[in-house]
Amino acid sequence: MLNRILDPAITTVMNTYQRAPIHLQKGKGSYVWDMEGNKYLDFTSGIATCNLGHVPDTVKKALEEQLDMLWHCSNLYHIQVQEKFASFLTEISCMDQVFFCNSGAEANEAAIKLARIYANKFKENVSPVIVTFKQSFHGRTLATLSATGQEKVQKGFEPLMPGFHYLTYNDAQDLKKIETICPIAVMLELVQGEGGVIPANKEWVEELVTICKKNNILLIVDEVQTGMGRTGTMFAYEQYNFEPDIVTLAKGLGSGFPIGAMLAKNPIAKSFVHGTHGSTFGGNPLAASAGLATVQFLTNNIISKNNEMIIYLWDELNHLKKTHPIIKSIQGKGLLIGVVVDRDANQIVEAARKEGVLILTAGQNVVRLLPPLTVTVEEIDQFLNSFNKILYEMGG
Ligand code: PLP
Repeated sequence: MLNRILDPAITTVMNTYQRAPIHLQKGKGSYVWDMEGNKYLDFTSGIATCNLGHVPDTVKKALEEQLDMLWHCSNLYHIQVQEKFASFLTEISCMDQVFFCNSGAEANEAAIKLARIYANKFKENVSPVIVTFKQSFHGRTLATLSATGQEKVQKGFEPLMPGFHYLTYNDAQDLKKIETICPIAVMLELVQGEGGVIPANKEWVEELVTICKKNNILLIVDEVQTGMGRTGTMFAYEQYNFEPDIVTLAKGLGSGFPIGAMLAKNPIAKSFVHGTHGSTFGGNPLAASAGLATVQFLTNNIISKNNEMIIYLWDELNHLKKTHPIIKSIQGKGLLIGVVVDRDANQIVEAARKEGVLILTAGQNVVRLLPPLTVTVEEIDQFLNSFNKILYEMGG
């Protein structure tokens, strides 16, 4: 049985991911253990998902309480914890209503549908188009891969879904085209995570917001990766001083329990009425319990406190950059960090794994660091020591 599990050639799981050759079995805080008992420092957080670290006590407790009560009942009935969670999310954001689903792609699907139904009801003389950006990533469903501005994600799945127009991220000239295109909405990430951990320039976003306001174009911010404290504030948009019309969330929303959400302002949100959209599992009692406990803990215990860790890690990485020419630059926001290197980033990820440290790539030459927001100085030091050693051994 174990051989069957370990041999990638005979796996019965479809081959959609290039998996590292380890089988993780257990996690706590910033650490995970494999089936052989090897311990790893996890600076991936399940791709920006386990923001409170692995198996956080507060979420475990909420889930255990809910496990004894009710697991699922469908959205044909009121679910108290779901309603409480929605209210909490609207209190901590600039949004008025929440639609719950199960993933980032599903949250973006909901945003695309909401923008379309709103425009079809209330707008005249607009092209039924949503502007997105090159190098963006919005998901793997047909609509969201069509929204994604990366050919490698779309290739082989043609025909793509119509209704998307791609502009160049951070390009002021390209922004001017928006008034000519006259789209119903613009959808963007404020840090392009999968596309290389590239933050949006502040002035560029300011200009984008001005154009959207002037022309009554909806602004959808995909915070699936940047949300839930990952960039240092609960939502990345807070650092850009504007209020989006629609925000999408997933990943860090449930500490690893699958949940996504699409939040919108009124009157846009009110365009979804009975029968226009749905999701069997969306915001079910278990998922909503995990989400509520996660976001309450983030609000009360983490967001204002982890600035020190952010500053410490960035300072030390900038220090490493001075001694290692392999590092070309460091980019990102908060604890969503891209270390641009002069070689295939996979080489560094593999070397780190051998040192007992899990990190990620974002594109060809970017090492992506996503420590949990609960990370400690000691854990950061452990990472830095390993990273430093690897860079020395690689000769730079
Ligand atoms: N949007 C962004 C910005 C993402 O980073 C991702 C996943 O990496 C998604 C959407 C898709 O999320 P999911 O994999 O939960 O469908």
